[in-house]
Amino acid sequence: MNIMKTNTMKWMVACAALLILPSPAKAELYIVATLPALAQITQEIAGEKATVVSLARVGQDPHFVPGKPTLARHLAKADLLVSAGLALESGWLPPLMALSRNEHILPGREGSFAGSETIDVIGGEANVDRSAGDVHPEGNPHWWLDPLRAAQMGQALAKRLAVLDPTHASDYQQRADIFSKRLQALVASWQHKGVAAQRIVTYHDSYRYFVERFGFNVVGFIEPKPGVEASTKHLSALVEQMKAQQIMQIWSESYHLGRIASRVASATGATLMVMDDAVEGSAGAGYINMIEGILRKAMGE
Ligand SMILES: [Zn+2]
Repeated sequence: MNIMKTNTMKWMVACAALLILPSPAKAELYIVATLPALAQITQEIAGEKATVVSLARVGQDPHFVPGKPTLARHLAKADLLVSAGLALESGWLPPLMALSRNEHILPGREGSFAGSETIDVIGGEANVDRSAGDVHPEGNPHWWLDPLRAAQMGQALAKRLAVLDPTHASDYQQRADIFSKRLQALVASWQHKGVAAQRIVTYHDSYRYFVERFGFNVVGFIEPKPGVEASTKHLSALVEQMKAQQIMQIWSESYHLGRIASRVASATGATLMVMDDAVEGSAGAGYINMIEGILRKAMGE
């Protein structure tokens, strides 16, 4: 037997030994969330040992995230992809997923988790005129602004994490239960303060779940339909309506702030308020700060 053959055999024996050795404990989960608020909820449930990254940054429009190749690199190593769903990310996520070549996170696989599939969806079906350019034909995807739906999503996420990492199933469940209780207490304390009956106008239909939970009343939108730019005719009618109904607040996403919203505010005397759908901050605390930030601003605190 020549030396080369001996070396090959040694190598084969080494490989065989590796195969029968018990595999080392799998590294902690690497989770990619599409949006910062979803990443915070996910980090809360998955715990500090899991790595959770967000594709979108705070302040970016969740409907249009620039598809940088670095984002696909995160997706390539993801054990789990957490998305909002309902086509919110359909304009930018599929090309990144294709680039990542990670089959494990394709829809329907264990590594794919759309939060919208775990909550009661508002809108969609017959309610929407798809031909008119509405960007929410499958239902309103901004569900994470309702803390109780976030709690529901957290419970479902704990169960999915338990499938991916059964060893820590009870930890995930425990964290989801604690987070649910915190969110229930948060909602109860603010509902107790009575924010109901405030009438507002919002730019995009981002706050639907939030306002229904806390009792605000949205009487109009700067966008005539979600994702459709306002016409002069629409804005004139909105200004007249706001004056007649004495609407004092316009809520805008940070990514929609600009000339149009300012014009409506100055024409009506209403206050233009940026209500963030994500803020910096770690895990559940960051998420709760975002919710309380909107409530405080709306209440003038
Ligand atoms: Zn939207």
